[in-house]
Amino acid sequence: MKRRYNSLNEYFREKFGKRVQKVTLDAGFYCPNRDGRLSRGGCIFCDEKGSGRGEYGILSLKEQMERAYMFLSKRYGTDLFMLYFQAFTNTYAPLQKCINIFEEGLKEASKLFKVVGLSVGTRPDCVPDPFPEMYASFKGRVEELWLELGLQSINHKTLKLINRGHTLAEFIDAVIRSKKWGIKVCAHVILGLPGEGKEDAIEMARILSALRVDGVKVHPLYVVKGTPLEEMVNEEEYKPLMLDEYVDLCVAFLEHLSPDVVVHRLTGETAKENLLAPDWILDKTKVLKRIEERLISEDTWQGKKLKLGLTHEELCPLVER
Ligand code: SF4
Repeated sequence: MKRRYNSLNEYFREKFGKRVQKVTLDAGFYCPNRDGRLSRGGCIFCDEKGSGRGEYGILSLKEQMERAYMFLSKRYGTDLFMLYFQAFTNTYAPLQKCINIFEEGLKEASKLFKVVGLSVGTRPDCVPDPFPEMYASFKGRVEELWLELGLQSINHKTLKLINRGHTLAEFIDAVIRSKKWGIKVCAHVILGLPGEGKEDAIEMARILSALRVDGVKVHPLYVVKGTPLEEMVNEEEYKPLMLDEYVDLCVAFLEHLSPDVVVHRLTGETAKENLLAPDWILDKTKVLKRIEERLISEDTWQGKKLKLGLTHEELCPLVER
């Protein structure tokens, strides 16, 4: 049976006829929300590895790719790959230097495997002009060119509370300027942030749909040891999500998300030894199964409830009256 949401795997299979595997890379970038430019504490959920595996300094880009290739090609039996510069803020350096790093990555990767895509993760306030124009120059060389922007929440109070250091306006600006150059944009969002509920998830899906983002990466808020969020849990200022609560939020989000948006991810992952709570996020298959089961039992799907304003038919009688 076809999935009830537009998953990245399905999208790749339709386009390339087979699985495409992402190779995640740590190219040694850092983050303005950690080095003191914006703050030193970082986002309240982020540890010192900045969403990566902390590989840079231990392994060169080439070594990271060789290792990933050996593991992924054996595990998934695919020969198509997409490079993903993941750790920290991958545009936080002189722009030409960033482009050179992506170039080098592409050159080295092409010696090992077929690269069909390139993706770069960054913050919305770190996409100055002319970066989108410069980055768009990779378009002829890979079939899928993505920019992954960490938004996390559309609520300005939440963005402050979680110490993101950027606003929704900066996200919108980065999306518009990147899409102008034909770059596909994937928004990273978190469901279950302190003080947020179903209505926030729904409005976020509606805003992303209205903005015509190309993809989303969704994950539940989880507590990593040694982060400010751990202190909030200890102080009983935040209670980690139950699996059922996350499934509720996720289904509501999907129902209000345009069916054209590619869902890159619907759950999070982190190493068991770093995780404080909730422990259900360690079983990725179970989380995805529960979301799928709920979509089936409620006979709902991505975009089922998305409605942006009045239709033409609804509007005309009102105007004529
Ligand atoms: S912007 Fe990213 S890398 Fe920087 S502190 Fe936040 S989550 Fe961590």
